[in-house]
Amino acid sequence: MIRINENYTKLKASYLFSDIAKRVTAYVAANPSKPVIRLGIGDVTEPLPPVCIEALHAATDELAKRATFKGYGPEQGYAFLREAVAQHDYAARGCQIEADEIFISDGSKCDCGNLQEIFAQDIRLAIPDPVYPVYVDTNVMAGRTGASVDGRYQGVTYLESTPANHYVPSVPSVATDLIYLCFPNNPTGAVATKAQLTTWVEYAKKNQAIILFDSAYEAYIRNPAIPHSIYEIPGAREVAIEFRSFSKTAGFTGTRCAYTVIPKALLAWDHQGQPHAVHALWNRRHTTKFNGVAYPIQKAAAAIYTAAGQQQTSQLINFYLDNAKLIREAMTKLGFSCIGGDNAPYIWINTGRDSWAFFDTLLNNAQVVCTPGAGFGQCGEGHVRISAFNSRENVEAALVRIAAALK
Ligand SMILES: *Cc1c(COP(=O)(O)O)cnc(C)c1O
Repeated sequence: MIRINENYTKLKASYLFSDIAKRVTAYVAANPSKPVIRLGIGDVTEPLPPVCIEALHAATDELAKRATFKGYGPEQGYAFLREAVAQHDYAARGCQIEADEIFISDGSKCDCGNLQEIFAQDIRLAIPDPVYPVYVDTNVMAGRTGASVDGRYQGVTYLESTPANHYVPSVPSVATDLIYLCFPNNPTGAVATKAQLTTWVEYAKKNQAIILFDSAYEAYIRNPAIPHSIYEIPGAREVAIEFRSFSKTAGFTGTRCAYTVIPKALLAWDHQGQPHAVHALWNRRHTTKFNGVAYPIQKAAAAIYTAAGQQQTSQLINFYLDNAKLIREAMTKLGFSCIGGDNAPYIWINTGRDSWAFFDTLLNNAQVVCTPGAGFGQCGEGHVRISAFNSRENVEAALVRIAAALK
């Protein structure tokens, strides 16, 4: 008899986005004359930069000719892209990362979901709350947690992001082995300083632990004192893996391209205490289970690193950040304490009331959709996330309506 992986039955059904969709659909059906503005979902809205479109067309034409046709490429990515990443994202910021330490993939969601499988079953996890759900759910599927009790999986050390710590958790008092961090953060928009990241690197060193650092929103950092990469912290090459994605940097959410950095100096141990290079393990896993990102997509990603590409992507990000600034200013003016929006496309609003109740108020009275914080974890209760991914016109209209509704 074929049997299931029963760890899947421990998963709390994530009703967040389907619950939101249900409430919005019901509202629209009952109020067909009132158009709704969606500032809930974390997806980009603006088209790809022109350099990417040109690269996609040119690469597609190469595939049309026998002489330049490409079949399977290197699983880890083409050298032209890995070298561009190493040079522009790392060497240029003083980080020592080689091109062959970079693994090109079809998304950071897959990478941060898959990476856990090269580690032992009984390692101790540290996971933020509120959080991007992929980190915890993939570990539940792998059997690294107990059951969900009152919304939290047993055996996980939750790193709480609250008003008291300005939404940047400090290192736990207990030892853990695999630590997930995300800065700039989704959903809070919080960023971590060099000093804060240094405490995490030191904690990981002391505990022979590994940090999985998700910097999907790195390109939104505008404060020059905030590190863009964990490798800006001395010693991080020995304790950290970094995930980056072209999704929010250049609008690749539907196009799919990302990368993971695994320094060769990074070690993990077997049950006899023998060290193993994590790079070699991941290389084995990646080449066994993945067959590379499409050539035209990698060409489009590489185009971002040209002078024109840099100019176009920063213009795109500035556009979203200008939206974010308008949202944060308007919500602050209404008396809410907010973070994010200055170095991230999300504004995290301390509503001082139940997050679903606040969601309903905005939907019913302002026809604006936000994301209730409770959907991201216990510590998200009392907060909502508003996303800057929309047109200027929609953001401005939404803010006028919110102000009128909450007056
Ligand atoms: C959007 C996002 C990513 C990127 O995911 P892709 O699969 O590369 O599109 C990664 N981490 C977080 C926290 C995100 O919000």
